Amino acid sequence: MFCNLFFFSLDCRTRQAKTIGWSISRFVIYIDQCWKMEENKDASLLVIVMDTNPSQRIIRENPHHLTQCLDSIVAFANAHLMQKAQNKLAVLACHHHATEFLYPTPGKPLDIRQVDGQYEAFTLVEKTIKQKLAKVISEAPRLTVPTESLLAGSMAMALCYIARVHRNKPAGVKINSRILVVTGSNECASQYMTYMNVFFTAQKQNVSLDVCALDKPLSLLQQGCDITGGQYLKLPQLDGFLQYLLWVFLPEPLTRCKLVLPPPVKVDYRAACFCHRELIDIGYVCSVCLSIFCKFSPICTTCHTVFKAPAPIAAKPKKKKMKT
Ligand SMILES: [Zn+2]
Ligand SMILES: [Zn+2]
Repeated sequence: MFCNLFFFSLDCRTRQAKTIGWSISRFVIYIDQCWKMEENKDASLLVIVMDTNPSQRIIRENPHHLTQCLDSIVAFANAHLMQKAQNKLAVLACHHHATEFLYPTPGKPLDIRQVDGQYEAFTLVEKTIKQKLAKVISEAPRLTVPTESLLAGSMAMALCYIARVHRNKPAGVKINSRILVVTGSNECASQYMTYMNVFFTAQKQNVSLDVCALDKPLSLLQQGCDITGGQYLKLPQLDGFLQYLLWVFLPEPLTRCKLVLPPPVKVDYRAACFCHRELIDIGYVCSVCLSIFCKFSPICTTCHTVFKAPAPIAAKPKKKKMKT
């Protein structure tokens, strides 16, 4: 099979055929990886954090975009489950007032009728997510001004869920976990501390963080992807969202090194000051607790350490003129 594919991709002259050949070879590498994983009995847990805040620009401009994104995410989630029977899935909706689990939901699973041609587990995922999201949106308080999404909190909740799954797993089973954040919100430095705590906890728990930015580039989340070894993608256009998801985010982080993915962008590692929550280039750092401030303050507001005021910089004595 490998040889046939190889010749196929070499013989292709047209661009489209080359693309098909390339896709098939990617697929073969992918299946190969899946077989290896099957031998190892490794399971993969994917937690999708979906930003459903109506303040997002793409949703304000066209509410239909939310349905479009939801359909793509459901198809992507089912593609993840399809890869292996042991694969697990969780989907969280991040709203402006709360974070809710869309799948799995506590209690008895929904009663679903068999739909011809669709595997029952996929129908269950789709129905549960859509029904729960409709409930979340209808119960959300009305917004008068655009409000930021509670992304950092949702990611912390995803990490808690992953920790619980790991605690309850049967002995001898290995679970590779990752989080995928899909958001069109702007970044808010006000959640800087929570973001950093989430990133370093994820790194310690070996959880990769993938981010798909639908609207603006997100520098803080980009730092998170870089720290945890995940993939960051700023979507060039909303059309073909599912294709981007399947191409970039469906393969496991271990497989990705074998694929041609978007090149890594330069990460903006600026930090937010603790006083105004704004990203700064140069600032003061508390030597005790490493808090960052944009201006000198004699008492650290985090750990209350008292610092001496910096001495004024003494003017350099002028060099004496050389006697001639
Ligand atoms: Zn400041
Ligand atoms: Zn301090």
